[in-house]
Amino acid sequence: MIFAVTGGKGGTGKSTIATNLAIAISTKRDTILLDADVEEPNDFILLGKSLENEVPIKTIYPEIDTRKCTYCMKCVKICPEGAIVLIKGKPPVIFDKICSGCGLCFYECEDNALIKKERIIGYTYLTEISKSLKMITGKLVEGEERAYPIVLAAKRRALESYSKQSSILIVDTSAGTSNSVAASLKGSEFAIAVTEPTPLGAHDLELILSLLKKLSIPAYVIINRTGIGPEDEILRVSEKYGAEIIARIPY
Ligand code: SF4
Ligand code: SF4
Repeated sequence: MIFAVTGGKGGTGKSTIATNLAIAISTKRDTILLDADVEEPNDFILLGKSLENEVPIKTIYPEIDTRKCTYCMKCVKICPEGAIVLIKGKPPVIFDKICSGCGLCFYECEDNALIKKERIIGYTYLTEISKSLKMITGKLVEGEERAYPIVLAAKRRALESYSKQSSILIVDTSAGTSNSVAASLKGSEFAIAVTEPTPLGAHDLELILSLLKKLSIPAYVIINRTGIGPEDEILRVSEKYGAEIIARIPY
């Protein structure tokens, strides 16, 4: 079984709940915890472990050979990310941090003026927490902007272990509703959205429940820090999306 612990808003205690669920479930079944919050993975800190078995994630990007470039603009036009920008009368400028590494520009440049470069944009880790609990962590290199490929790589690594050794995979997603969060959620049988009784908590809960509905993933809600504010909006939003409130954790 694969399920996700998610939440539209950061700082609601999502990782605390994911790690505690992982520990509890691992007393009965082999469990994998995937920390897909790649910009700020902290499950290993909550579990008091250092990350182990590092695997680098690389991407390619182009660099322009200014001696060969004829300023034809073909690479500028083909780039789906807008990572190559034309400067009149000069070779284009490449913003490598927003390059997705799709490789299209290399095929488009007939003057062989693009040099293929490679750099590490993140890492995945496999850390053994206990005999029955493994943790896969994705981590984006500081200064890099593309979380999506790191999430995919971490998920792939988790699924490798899952199919071979485990029966429960818990995906701890990052906050928000970005394409990285959607990639983390895909394949989950259900998702638990963690929220708190504040106006922002209710607003962001609605966003994540809406995304889960689009992905056809059944949703449940945990209200953390009950007592810090009224729950009316949380109840309204949960009811609107048919998401059952399965737990309340007092402040
Ligand atoms: S496609 Fe090649 S030659 Fe044309 S502008 Fe780009 S790098 Fe220069
Ligand atoms: S590899 Fe793809 S995304 Fe990167 S600069 Fe070339 S066309 Fe753009």
